[in-house]
Amino acid sequence: VGVPDLSVLGGRDEETVGLIRMDLNTAPGEPAGLRERFERELAGLDLERYGDESASILRGRIASRRGGTAEQTFVAGGSMAVLQAVLLAFGGSERRALAFLPGYSGLHRLCAALGTPLRLEARGPAFALDAQMLESALRDDEGYAPDLVFFCHPGNPTGRPEDPATVEAACRRAPGALVVVDEAYLEFSGLDSMDAIEPRPSNLLVVRSFSKAMALAGARVGYALGAADVCSALRRTQLPGAVSALTQAAALAALAEPPEDSSRRLEAIAADREEMSAGLAAVESVEVWPSSANFVLFRTPAPAAAVLAACRREGVLVRDVSAQPGLERCVRATVAGPEANARLLAAVAALVTGAPLSGAAGGSARGRSAVSHRAGSRRPSP
Ligand code: PMP
Repeated sequence: VGVPDLSVLGGRDEETVGLIRMDLNTAPGEPAGLRERFERELAGLDLERYGDESASILRGRIASRRGGTAEQTFVAGGSMAVLQAVLLAFGGSERRALAFLPGYSGLHRLCAALGTPLRLEARGPAFALDAQMLESALRDDEGYAPDLVFFCHPGNPTGRPEDPATVEAACRRAPGALVVVDEAYLEFSGLDSMDAIEPRPSNLLVVRSFSKAMALAGARVGYALGAADVCSALRRTQLPGAVSALTQAAALAALAEPPEDSSRRLEAIAADREEMSAGLAAVESVEVWPSSANFVLFRTPAPAAAVLAACRREGVLVRDVSAQPGLERCVRATVAGPEANARLLAAVAALVTGAPLSGAAGGSARGRSAVSHRAGSRRPSP
């Protein structure tokens, strides 16, 4: 049989055993009590049955936490599967999608794999998108409007939040398009969801993930909040039971995390992020962008591949994002705790300055208290 060329789907097969993952944007550590809550959910399951095939209980629980109703909620196996459902229901070779660069490469791969033509428009300085740029992007060279418009808030790999006015303008200026805002990293930002835009545009779909701030990547759960008819169309693309009973149980357990626990986890991640940013900015000629997510985008004078190799020698994996226009020599590193930070900084400093960095990035693991690592952090030079 002739195997088609599927290189468009990407895929990584590098050696990762024993390395600290600062390349996947997941949160470090399992939330306290998750396992016990999961076991309680499991105890109520009849695994010989298909169970709640349309995940109506989980959708209802998500809706009661995030607003709206179960009918205005769609659940799938990860937010990537939500984006796939969006493209299956609203995309196709006769339809046009629009997104902005730098952007989430997973979306670009999905569009290619599912045959939806995707137009990628460049953002302006500091990755901003002003009203005029949006206006001209909403028409292509032949004057066609897109059927799908994608935003990411905060953006991957930039960490930059999107302005609600931009999303609102896109919904208004492209009333026939579905405007999709990927909020996989929203919880790290402390910012409002685009779901809070008033009045809520009927063509707005907000996509969220359990993989990042909710620390449940292994269970594969993502969801979307939008108009009931849009969510119903997305459900039609799924096989029955696409979100398994086990997955639903894990998601229900994660949703039941006490809010004060999740706030504490998110505060520690934000403190580590600020320490990482400050430490990187303190290394001569390293450029660091402000981030509202759980990762930091930075540029060094060295090629990204050299940074990856130096980090690998220090036992950490980071992501090369330098292939995107405007991100030459850029690398993205996920917040993964003080020890990971120290290793990253040691690797970058040694590579860029040729000398090991003393102090904050000395390589020793420090305590987890936000206070202690704030006190020990290096501030950027002015
Ligand atoms: N959207 C964005 C912007 C992401 O960065 C990712 C993960 N890298 C996803 C969606 C997919 O996450 P998941 O399928 O685990 O929810």
